Amino acid sequence: MKPFDFARAENVEAALAAGAAGARYIAGGTNLIDLMKLQVETPDRLVDIGRIGLDTVEEHDGGVRIGALVPNSDLAAHSTVRSRYPMLARALLAGASAQLRNKASTGGNLLQRTRCYYFYEIAARCNKREPGSGCDAIQGFNRIHAVIGGSASCIATHPSDMAVALRALDATVVTARSGGEGRRIALDDLYCLPGDTPQIETILDPGELIVAIDLPAPPPGRQAYRKVRDRASYAFALVSIAAAIAVEDGTITSARLAFGGLAPMPWRDPAVEAALVGQPAGTAAFEAAADALLADARGHGHNDFKITLARRTLIATLRDLAG
Ligand code: SF4
Repeated sequence: MKPFDFARAENVEAALAAGAAGARYIAGGTNLIDLMKLQVETPDRLVDIGRIGLDTVEEHDGGVRIGALVPNSDLAAHSTVRSRYPMLARALLAGASAQLRNKASTGGNLLQRTRCYYFYEIAARCNKREPGSGCDAIQGFNRIHAVIGGSASCIATHPSDMAVALRALDATVVTARSGGEGRRIALDDLYCLPGDTPQIETILDPGELIVAIDLPAPPPGRQAYRKVRDRASYAFALVSIAAAIAVEDGTITSARLAFGGLAPMPWRDPAVEAALVGQPAGTAAFEAAADALLADARGHGHNDFKITLARRTLIATLRDLAG
């Protein structure tokens, strides 16, 4: 590991000052330390933000405000999350291992980086790690890679389960900035598609700090988080679905759906939800939703199976939720 300076912030202001001076924030460190050991990331300075507070879950404006430093395990176990946002609790528990969930923070989970094999192998060509160098995944082993939203520069997927549920729940990210106003950023707007600049993953400014995530009141209907992966635990999603569906008198009256494992960001497509709302809760509507989701899906060889897998997983999830 390359040597680096380390400091500990005691409050948000101190953290922002360090961030403005070029330090990288570290909380649980469950992703960043791995990246530093492999020299994929080589920051000169780290500032530990683990003791600046931001570690509560509170009722807020009909929903909840989740502090950015709430550990994933605490968030999954929180009574309000379990009772009102069960898809979020299930998504959190589907991620990583118990030890990692104890350390990983809510804000850090949102900003974790792809698990593309070539991104972690510094001898490989990777436009995300080294812009302009090429992408060894597109012609290489791309079983875990994106079938939606990728580009000729990068087809990496976003690895978070939690972010998929938060996107279906219409979450908003609350930030703080040194010398400026913090922002409220809808999760729909936080992430960037790779295009020609896969190294740019979010719209956050340098030094901008996520301080909380706001959830509005939960959507109507039943919720689910379904994850398909190679192992029963401690594996990233090949396909995952966060869904909330309401059905009245056999008709779908509300639908919220987000997807993991398929795209460079937690994926949500209004056309999928539009294909369901107002329709009889049955196979025809579920298949129309799958058609809408996968209309532009494209495999790269090893990951072709994800298109069929996503279709089947979506239809099965909708069948379960619609009863
Ligand atoms: Fe790098 Fe993206 Fe290509 Fe993976 S898919 S090697 S992260 S550019």
